Amino acid sequence: MTRFIVIGVGIPRCRKSTFSILVSSHFERMTIANTTMNKKKPLLISRRSLLQKGLAGTVALTFLPLDGITKSFAQETAKPVLSGAPTSLPFLKNGVPQFQLKVLSDKAPLHFAAQQISQIMPELTGKTATSPTSAWTLKIDIANDVLNRQKITHESLGNDGYLIVKDGDGLLITGFTGRAVLYGIFALLESATGFAWVRPLIGSVPLEPIQDATLKLPFPLTSKPAFVERGLSLSEMQWKTDSDQMLNWLERNGLNMNALHTWSFEPAWNSTSTNAPDFKEAAAAREKRGLPLEIHGHSFGFLVPPGEFGKTHPEYFSLIDGKRKVSARSSQLCLSNPAVLDLITQRFEKMLDAQPDLQTLGLGPNDGAGGWCQCEFCNAMDSPGDMHQPFTHGERSYTTRYIKFANQVAQRLHTKYPNARIHVYAYTNYIAPPDCEVDPALEVEFCAMYRCTVHALNDPNCPKNAAFNRFLQGWLAKTKNIYIRDYFIMMGDGAARSMPTSLYTLEKDIRYYQSQQLLGMVPEMIPDGPNGANVASGELYATWLQPPSRYTDVWDTGWLVYYGMARLLWNPAQKAEDIIAQACDSYYGAASEQMSQYHQILQENWYQSGHPGVAPPANQITTFSENVQSGPYCLGWGYAPRITWQANHLFDVQPDGKTTKAELTKLAQLLLDAREIARKKMLPVLRDRIEADVQNFQEWALSQGYEIDFRFGQTKVKFMSTARETTAQ
Ligand SMILES: [Zn+2]
Ligand SMILES: [Zn+2]
Repeated sequence: MTRFIVIGVGIPRCRKSTFSILVSSHFERMTIANTTMNKKKPLLISRRSLLQKGLAGTVALTFLPLDGITKSFAQETAKPVLSGAPTSLPFLKNGVPQFQLKVLSDKAPLHFAAQQISQIMPELTGKTATSPTSAWTLKIDIANDVLNRQKITHESLGNDGYLIVKDGDGLLITGFTGRAVLYGIFALLESATGFAWVRPLIGSVPLEPIQDATLKLPFPLTSKPAFVERGLSLSEMQWKTDSDQMLNWLERNGLNMNALHTWSFEPAWNSTSTNAPDFKEAAAAREKRGLPLEIHGHSFGFLVPPGEFGKTHPEYFSLIDGKRKVSARSSQLCLSNPAVLDLITQRFEKMLDAQPDLQTLGLGPNDGAGGWCQCEFCNAMDSPGDMHQPFTHGERSYTTRYIKFANQVAQRLHTKYPNARIHVYAYTNYIAPPDCEVDPALEVEFCAMYRCTVHALNDPNCPKNAAFNRFLQGWLAKTKNIYIRDYFIMMGDGAARSMPTSLYTLEKDIRYYQSQQLLGMVPEMIPDGPNGANVASGELYATWLQPPSRYTDVWDTGWLVYYGMARLLWNPAQKAEDIIAQACDSYYGAASEQMSQYHQILQENWYQSGHPGVAPPANQITTFSENVQSGPYCLGWGYAPRITWQANHLFDVQPDGKTTKAELTKLAQLLLDAREIARKKMLPVLRDRIEADVQNFQEWALSQGYEIDFRFGQTKVKFMSTARETTAQ
């Protein structure tokens, strides 16, 4: 056994747990003995200064073996596959770009890339009318010959991976698709300037202009994402109201998916029109970026609208207690009726006729869990195994009949469109795996709603997630075409300021999904912006946020985790603490050191909080679904109204359940120090960002019974009242 003394430099917070995580990342097996922490005076060196010293990572660890030989190295962020000697190219000098862009082939995404560069460079430098000095040329192309020469196949690089090679005096970025080239460009810009687009609306421009930058990378360089499907389910963003900011943010962060929802098209199938809905606008917004066009969502009511068929063909709808129930919300379709199969197949064909590049068609039951048909023919489609699969909604499963129906649609559709893929949900009372084959053309979106957001999905010690994981494994035995929909934001009252799952949990989840070879992850989210202002129509959506003005609050609280998710989906080997430091550099600029520590503490506390309560005695759980949906231990989607439950897990909570004043003081002081930096530097944008964090913190602290004085001018933590010094109910 080798024994080391380990000294950390630049660790966001000198705390045993952080330190252990960092140290253990270097060793598979490790025992920490006699850890001595210098708590009084942690040595803090900013990531910025480490970078200036040429250390690529965020944290330097020095390992001093006890035999006296000194070994020191920097813990580096996970990197793409690199080869060749590092090349250094001037990128910016006094705010002037030092390269000239050259588009080599006439493809829409490459022209969009050029337009993006001409938009981004002035945003980064704060200089609008500067013509670049052409010290070197940055060429972009979809260049199969170059890739062939490098012996890179489409299969190995995928649709999203890129290659950057030296080309004459400059560089060439290429890939097998337009969006791959865009991903390469954004990675290059970030690598040169250190600026990342961490948030869609307000984080898209640096706080202070970047004047000088040098690109230092070894070439050739290839990078490809670990997952095929990466994105957000912006369920409230409609096709008519795609926002440039949201689509830009997705693409600049290596994401490729923002599926459209059938709800957007509902009116198109009404009785007055049998034309396929018009996808042109949505298709164009994606085509220019090289992003795929996909339709998902709860679509039974869209494909067989009650308004069109309710009166003439009530037999298309569910038979419930002896009567046909015609509804697009609270009931489903009679899936055993051959006319329903005909109709849905025809409608999908019409959609594909109108838009042949449509990659996925949504075949989702109406939202919720109710109203499955009780007719004898539908019942005959079930498997005996479905009768006892209790889960989040109800005590039986309907997956087998649903998937049997979806298989039939896929097989029918394939006679005309052999490559068509169909999106299906695994959700509520159809989340248990089916007792039938799953057609390879089906893409399963596994919706772990009500999962515990503290523990990883495969954590065997979490009773909630163990149940979800069992179902996921059941699906995996049938198909590999699965991706995860998650629910980081907790909806309902108080949801806007609910912390999403911790990045440390997400890190574990995403590595687990990678090990299971899932397609990827597309969690639910809403667009960024006040009052839905980021939605072009200005209409209010997400009414469950109550009031809808809380669009901004959701991103104020969640930006770090959504950004982190994007990073991890590209490269699951990246570490949460590196992502936090890097994101805070871009988002908080001069105050990044304080804010990085602040977020590091919250993320870590949240992750390490464990179960917030004890499991109820078995005799108090009347049904399994009741347990999963509302069990008092483990946090999940259903806990939004109980923000206090969550808040006490953001802080250091003692065995008696009380939040410590010391922990609150430390966090509040970091916020006050950061705010002071913004004031001294006269950066109102930075002040606003910190103010949003202050507001979140105030609300969480209040829920713990502590009111802290954050009035303007305060620089030292002062408690105003501790009237309710009790823990959450
Ligand atoms: Zn039926
Ligand atoms: Zn749990």
